[in-house]
Amino acid sequence: METRSAQEIWDAALGELQIQVSKPNYRTWLEKTIGLSYQDNQFVVGVPTSFVAEYLDKNQYSLIEKTLIGLTTTPEIKVSFQVNGKHQSSLSTRSADWKNLPSIRTDSPIFKSNYVFDSFIVGSCNHLAYAAAQAVTQNPGYSYNPLFICGGVGLGKTHLLHAIGHAALANNIKVIYVTAEQFTNEFVNAIRERKTDEFRDKYRSSGMLLVDDIHFISGKEQTAESFFHTFNALHNANRQIVITSDQPPKSMPFLEERLRSRFEWGLIVDIQPPEFETRLAILQSKAKQREVNITSDVLELIARQIRQNIRELEGSLNRVIAYARLLRASPDIELATHALKDIVSKEPKGVFLTSSQVLKAVADSFQMEPVDLKGRKRDRGTTLARQVAMYLIRQETNYSLAQIGKELGNRDHHLVSQAHKKIASDMTTDRGLNNKILDIQQRLHSRNR
Ligand code: ADP
Ligand code: MG
Repeated sequence: METRSAQEIWDAALGELQIQVSKPNYRTWLEKTIGLSYQDNQFVVGVPTSFVAEYLDKNQYSLIEKTLIGLTTTPEIKVSFQVNGKHQSSLSTRSADWKNLPSIRTDSPIFKSNYVFDSFIVGSCNHLAYAAAQAVTQNPGYSYNPLFICGGVGLGKTHLLHAIGHAALANNIKVIYVTAEQFTNEFVNAIRERKTDEFRDKYRSSGMLLVDDIHFISGKEQTAESFFHTFNALHNANRQIVITSDQPPKSMPFLEERLRSRFEWGLIVDIQPPEFETRLAILQSKAKQREVNITSDVLELIARQIRQNIRELEGSLNRVIAYARLLRASPDIELATHALKDIVSKEPKGVFLTSSQVLKAVADSFQMEPVDLKGRKRDRGTTLARQVAMYLIRQETNYSLAQIGKELGNRDHHLVSQAHKKIASDMTTDRGLNNKILDIQQRLHSRNR
């Protein structure tokens, strides 16, 4: 007879799960769960929203089941996820969960009110940039100076910069935020109006300088020169400087060498396009902010299709919502597919491959036949090839986990999800496997052009 309470068992389970899943994953899906009850081999986990329930059931079921079986030493446990009322007033309880992180929002007209740390979803694509932004907020001028954040369009650079700005204002730091374009215009005007002293004093008296999109001053010699002096003055006085750019300093062609080397003094962090889970978590959070009811299938559909740009991800969600309102229909898969038709065709990888194309390519690469991947053979080689096929179909097509399972000999979607995670994680440590998969992807895409 089990004497521990459901909560005690669940606490122990969370301890193990924390080791097994990635940190962003844990934070997004597991952190706010509780052990509700445990009776007759039925374990009920309390989760904050139905979306989290669906996600865990679909993607983490077997891991959670295995963990609970291990902890309770019973041969069988049925796990279910139940939305737990207590958690639903999300925003007020949320700040308590994030108590170590500044979630400061000021009414400054300069900084967008929703560009705060709290609304920034962290995944492996951006966690370094996020952590660095937090560090300079907590210890401005001394942790990393300058902090240089680079990354493609729409990946959250401005969002982080504003979040730092909110926090600085709340700490009474005299913060100046400019885009490099504004800086250039102000500088040109100052010269024209003979007010360069004023211009200089304004910037040099700031307690923190946030410069967005510095790539804009590439090639503008005089502005770059003026920025160089401002930079030096502030840096010498230990004032925090944070810069964003769409490229790392070393690949900015017309950047003056002196400036480039200054940028390299501090910390350079980049933001990569978000992986599927982060895209899904972002959509979930935006849907919640907008208080719309939208099922996880639809969010998954959007997340699978829009991969390169978070602004577009948000835009696509808005579009689906707008369509639904316009047509007075519920935002289901069919409506979403229709709403996204034009956008998807513009995505670089918008043309999806079919599962048989992927199967064929994987089979070729492992010197097997596609039927082997669908069949029952379970030797190591076949199992690995099958897992790679599951991984790649998930990455390269818009098939759901269940559909992928079906394609691969009617296997369970939990198995597909596990295979996907395993391969994704093995790729980070196993260079041979990583190269093999990249090679398959390359061949798939060159064939598909
Ligand atoms: P960039 O400056 O890199 O072009 P932005 O900071 O303007 O990108 O981000 C584009 C949009 O995506 C903004 O609405 C921003 O709030 C949102 N966004 C970007 N990254 C995240 C994230 N990690 N979590 C939540 N929203 C994000
Ligand atoms: Mg920006």
